Amino acid sequence: MAKFVVTPSNEKQRAAWTGGGIPEVERVRPGLWSIPVPIPINPLRYVLVYALELADGVAIVDAGWDTDEAYQALEAGLGVAGYAVADVRAVLVTHIHPDHYGLAGRVREASGAWIGLHPADAGLLRDRYDEAFIDGLVARERAQLLRCGVPAALVDELAGASMMIRSFVTMAAPDRLIEDGDRLDLSGWDLRAVWTPGHSPGHLCFAEPSRKLLFTGDHVLPRITSAVVVHPQSAPNPLADYLDALDALRAFDVEEVLPAHEYRFLELAGRVDYVMEHHRERLAEIERVVSGADGVTCWEVATKLTWSRPWESIPPFMRRTAGNETLAHLVWLESRGRVRRLPGEPELWTGAGS
Ligand SMILES: [Zn+2]
Ligand SMILES: [Zn+2]
Repeated sequence: MAKFVVTPSNEKQRAAWTGGGIPEVERVRPGLWSIPVPIPINPLRYVLVYALELADGVAIVDAGWDTDEAYQALEAGLGVAGYAVADVRAVLVTHIHPDHYGLAGRVREASGAWIGLHPADAGLLRDRYDEAFIDGLVARERAQLLRCGVPAALVDELAGASMMIRSFVTMAAPDRLIEDGDRLDLSGWDLRAVWTPGHSPGHLCFAEPSRKLLFTGDHVLPRITSAVVVHPQSAPNPLADYLDALDALRAFDVEEVLPAHEYRFLELAGRVDYVMEHHRERLAEIERVVSGADGVTCWEVATKLTWSRPWESIPPFMRRTAGNETLAHLVWLESRGRVRRLPGEPELWTGAGS
């Protein structure tokens, strides 16, 4: 596949990303700021929080993880823009992953801001972040891993792999539910919610048509492809949702894409095409592996695919994501009649004709 490389909006910001650093707080446009907030133990290094100036304060798109370091970075970044955390009026959360949603509760405590989320993500909060329910989620993760054919010796390690991350989240119920197409009532902004499920069931992008901007959260990033996985909290066929949502973005007239990681860039349609082609190639690769074998588990398929490094050197947490991404592709292929699933523990996958 020919590599399509996007044009960064700001070369300094891209250079900070590729150089392993953290970019500066930046005034993107009049009234719009980009504030990098560091995220711990994560190769993405920072989340880009966007602050939109209002008549009486600021609204922020995403918040960062719940660590003191992140809170201080957000506070300092707002300070560069001339605001304090107490001036935040709204926290628009693209999705409930810890790097986007974790700090929202603390910002609300300090400011009285309202927190907005899509209902599909709001409905996942309790099982994901409430101590009383977390064991149920881990049990469902274990069951899925066993169905996928993960070796028994690895299952416990993988099932608990994301538990540590929960300490970076303050459980905060949303004050408002944001649905697809909702116009957000923010003075000076014509901001509209675009529901883009896939990476998370309730993922939201925010379009600003009068300025031709699109805030894409984790749905579209300039260089890495967004993880789309099957897991106990995903929709049944998240890759189908993701690709449909990606396709729908073509209708938007956008001059600049403002993602939550890496750096801003210009070519939405070009990037959308590239990501779709990436998934088409991945689907074809997986279909080849399955049709060439006489019944394989999802985990076996995952070990046979091309990854950015040898399978055995991928850390357990990322191997789990890789397995769940493979499952998302298998489910998509099954939905199109290109592979078949033989139920059992583990489940086996075969070619459509076998
Ligand atoms: Zn995410
Ligand atoms: Zn993220």
